[in-house]
Amino acid sequence: MEMENLKDLLVDELKDLYSAENQITKALPKMAKAASSPELKQGFEDHLKQTKDQIARLEQIFKELEESPKGKKCHGMEGLLEEGKELMSEDAEPEVMDAGLISAAQRVEHYEIAAYGTVRTYARLLGMSKVVKLLEVTLREEKETDEKLSGLAEEINVEAEKAA
Ligand code: FE
Ligand code: FE
Repeated sequence: MEMENLKDLLVDELKDLYSAENQITKALPKMAKAASSPELKQGFEDHLKQTKDQIARLEQIFKELEESPKGKKCHGMEGLLEEGKELMSEDAEPEVMDAGLISAAQRVEHYEIAAYGTVRTYARLLGMSKVVKLLEVTLREEKETDEKLSGLAEEINVEAEKAA
């Protein structure tokens, strides 16, 4: 793919995000299943719904830009999710597993926050106000998810510390 200008880089990074979000939709049901805390389980299920909306938003953006969302694999997300998979294969105490799942999920959220923040800023520089608005809705959801996970960790980490 040609990379001549900031718009090309924007499209490239949006493709990366499209791949990342699609990978996340496959991982979240497994994380919900692995979680013992009902709140954490619910949190993963809620974020799965949000993630599907985020994919629809990206598709809307690609339509706007008259570009295809396909053609890239997000290796960063692949690695993060691979580490999550490793964790889930461990024979861990339920509270310890939950603490680990939060840790894995927050790495994913921080990756997304960095990526969405960057593309939002590119789109702003390029004067694409409609794209900026759509990206900001998602960016807000990712930040809220990260904060919710921090809230859950306050109790779950303490329970993990008491386990076994
Ligand atoms: Fe997302
Ligand atoms: Fe997310």
